[in-house]
Amino acid sequence: MSKQRLTIAVQKSGRLSKESIKLLSACGVKFNMHEARLMVHSTSHPIDLLRVRDDDIPGLVMDGVVDLGLVGENVLEEESLEREMKQQSNQFRSLRRLDFGHCRLSIALPTEQNFNGIADLEGLKIATTYPRLLERYLKDQGVKAKPVMLTGSVEVAPRAGLANAVCDLVSTGATLEANGLREQQVIFRSQVQLIQRAEALDPSKQQMMDKLLARIDGVQLAKESKYIMLHAPKDKLQQVEDILPGAERPTVLPLSHSDDVVAVHVVSTETLFWETMEQLKTLGCSSILVLPIEKMLG
Ligand code: ATP
Ligand code: MG
Repeated sequence: MSKQRLTIAVQKSGRLSKESIKLLSACGVKFNMHEARLMVHSTSHPIDLLRVRDDDIPGLVMDGVVDLGLVGENVLEEESLEREMKQQSNQFRSLRRLDFGHCRLSIALPTEQNFNGIADLEGLKIATTYPRLLERYLKDQGVKAKPVMLTGSVEVAPRAGLANAVCDLVSTGATLEANGLREQQVIFRSQVQLIQRAEALDPSKQQMMDKLLARIDGVQLAKESKYIMLHAPKDKLQQVEDILPGAERPTVLPLSHSDDVVAVHVVSTETLFWETMEQLKTLGCSSILVLPIEKMLG
């Protein structure tokens, strides 16, 4: 790969693609996306995207073929365990956990089947795309069951007579339910990670990397934060400050033609609940606004 340009592996098409590109765009990294292209060059920064299947991302980073990757921890951990078994290199640097791609890997059984605990899995065939994660879990629990590897349509395996249970990714549970399965045990919780290859980057790439990482932090922080504005009676200011969430001290501004009411502005990294807004109203506050923040730099 290029010595000068930072290469990032992202999922080509699937659940993580849109959010991955959205994150980079929010960082000001622009691309001319062509659906069919494997490699996309940024028009604004020395950054290239390699668009691949998500399963290939951890390996590309661990082999140092790309500098960075955005991938779900389920795929990352599975590949890492697989490589450990085969005694292949599975080194990488974990940079950030990101706030998307949330899901859980769970064991589910046909709804009509009784389940009283993990011991009930003894001797069962469990269909999964994540045999290493499942094996590790079963071993930790001291249960002997047989993973059956399937790369897709895991949820139909019990009905097709291929397995007695499944170990599959779940976000809402609707797919399981539609296939007559009930989630019984979560074995792994996952979200997206930004990972970097183990070997150090050369200085110019590292510089780009540091900038990108600071922007990613800014984007994440902004996502979690709100800008709160309200009008408050001057004599209730202390009480208002006490109930506003977040550690930051608010800005207090005068209002024109008003001696006893001021404007209060504060950035909060916590949610402002309806209850708090109602309390503020009771204190005599008005025009209470909670606004999303687009970008933030500490
Ligand atoms: P690819 O063709 O890239 O291999 P895929 O079919 O393996 O795609 P997707 O279904 O797009 O993968 O899911 C990608 C990742 O999204 C998963 O590995 C997981 O980290 C995350 N994810 C979040 N919610 C879910 C869910 N409900 N089901 C499956 N994956 C989910
Ligand atoms: Mg995949």
